[in-house]
Amino acid sequence: MVRAVFPGSFDPVHNGHIDIARRAANIFEEVIVAVYDKPQKDLLFTPQERLDLVNEAFKEDRRIRATLFSGLTVDFCRKNDVQVIVRGLRVFSDFEHEFRMALANHHLAPEIEVVAFITSEDHSFLSGSTVKEIASLGGDVRDFVPEHVRELISERFKDGKNSFPISSLRD
Ligand code: ADP
Repeated sequence: MVRAVFPGSFDPVHNGHIDIARRAANIFEEVIVAVYDKPQKDLLFTPQERLDLVNEAFKEDRRIRATLFSGLTVDFCRKNDVQVIVRGLRVFSDFEHEFRMALANHHLAPEIEVVAFITSEDHSFLSGSTVKEIASLGGDVRDFVPEHVRELISERFKDGKNSFPISSLRD
């Protein structure tokens, strides 16, 4: 049985992630979506909230399960009998980062393969930050995230509550 892990911050899980996890589950027997507890990013949701949102997104897909994790992805793989690390590739700028991480992980654990899926056209611009930026400016994110994610994110930004660093949507 080939088991794969799809690690990330998932702040929050969006349709780009869901597509990659489902496509990975068409190839590997089990996909574990591993929610990294403390990524070096501006986070909106707690680790438990991010995990709950992922669990809800995949509740009807028995091939995919989710968990929190910390530490090295390769250590997670070894502890959980995982042979493959799944990643998603959107634009060229992802490539350099993913390439470096894949080589580092391969150096640390040559027995574990990194498999990168090319994003679907519809999701090529989608990231957790884009979703948060749009929602924080009062935009509609229903095309980008499942309904339960849209509800929590709208609630988080209601009445000017919370702000999120805006990078590009107002350029
Ligand atoms: P984000 O960049 O959206 O904040 P993460 O940091 O949680 O997402 O990324 C986890 C993995 O999901 C990474 O491999 C990332 O490249 C991939 N990913 C994120 N968004 C997309 C997308 N729209 N299409 C394909 N893969 C994606």
